[in-house]
Amino acid sequence: MKLDAPTMVTVTVFVMVVMGALTLLSWSQARQTRALGFLGAAQLVGAAAVTLFGLRGLVPDWLSIGVANAVMLGANGLIWSGARSFEGRRVPLLWLAAGPVIWLAACLVPPFYASLGARVILCSALAGLYCAVTARTLWHPGGERLPSRAPASILLASEALLIWARIPATLILPTPPTGIPGQTFWVAVLSFVGLLYTVAVSVLFMALAKERLEAEQRRAAETDPLTGIANRRALASEARRALATGPAAVLLFDLDHFKRVNDTFGHAVGDAVLVGFCTVARQVLPAGTAFGRLGGEEFACLLPTAGTGEAARIAETVRLAVATMRPDLVPSLAVTVSVGVARGGGTGSASEFESLLGLADRALYQAKAQGRDRVVLAGPELRQVA
Ligand code: GH3
Ligand code: MG
Ligand code: MG
Repeated sequence: MKLDAPTMVTVTVFVMVVMGALTLLSWSQARQTRALGFLGAAQLVGAAAVTLFGLRGLVPDWLSIGVANAVMLGANGLIWSGARSFEGRRVPLLWLAAGPVIWLAACLVPPFYASLGARVILCSALAGLYCAVTARTLWHPGGERLPSRAPASILLASEALLIWARIPATLILPTPPTGIPGQTFWVAVLSFVGLLYTVAVSVLFMALAKERLEAEQRRAAETDPLTGIANRRALASEARRALATGPAAVLLFDLDHFKRVNDTFGHAVGDAVLVGFCTVARQVLPAGTAFGRLGGEEFACLLPTAGTGEAARIAETVRLAVATMRPDLVPSLAVTVSVGVARGGGTGSASEFESLLGLADRALYQAKAQGRDRVVLAGPELRQVA
């Protein structure tokens, strides 16, 4: 295969400009993903650098060597900034400028500038470092899981290794003759590699942005916006999964005389009480319990391993904790909750959760009828706890 430098450079510049423009277009449609803005800018800056490399021999060397490499390092720094911004971290302007500045300063030293080996070593060290820190920034084994995270990180790490491989190659291999043929070969190889990485990095960054957006939308569709706990749909699907493996207990909570709270103190206090109830309940419910808001001032939780006695004890703990709760906005306000408890399921039927909720609702109705602020167990005959 013969890599023709002018053709490779032209194709690379063209692809980088198109990818850069498309990435900036994606960013303009999702401005909150600033990483795409950095990446699009990096591709356009990279295209300018490759153009300057390609003009080697046609423009002064200080442009096609000195400035071109500084611009390329700037592009690498912008990709790193994109990764940092994607992770919600500060974009380090100082370090972004450090690579190009170090390179340009070194170029001003005549013995350095005269040595091809020294130039290759410094430039490769800096460019590889930017790729390596970008790979590290995206590497998050324990954090937010996105399918494209590992491929993006591995891709950038491989780019760093490839760039760094030029350092031992320069030290070991004899210096190529400085005529145009040797140089054009390297220009062609580097622009070909740059082309592959540009396309791959773009695709993976866009995939990362899309995966994060989808995860956020999925979370929003499953979360109650006021209290931040699971909504009815999310709780029901978790309950169905748990009930398919065996019986479970359901606790159905309903705040007492909640309408009065709204009527007396206003809706904002009512909202604060709902949030306060969730905080208290989550503190006393066993860790990892599926707990959600069914709507209004009704909440439910699922206790997969608890027997009826254990479920009633946990419901009583929540009831007592709520009775001692004092909302910040109105510390004199006493809040109470009634709880219906039902246990069953495990047969694999799809409507089990709804049936259990129906049973718990009957128990809850009894709790209200008996004076509120109490726990009632569903059963052949409904039983009040304690
Ligand atoms: P009971 O003891 O019988 O349960 O009486 P209650 O007043 O708690 O029950 P009711 O169903 O009559 O009233 C529930 C109230 O909850 C009515 C509604 O305005 C209020 N509510 C529902 N959702 C919200 C909300 O998101 N925020 C606030 N502040 N109030 C809400
Ligand atoms: Mg109610
Ligand atoms: Mg109520």
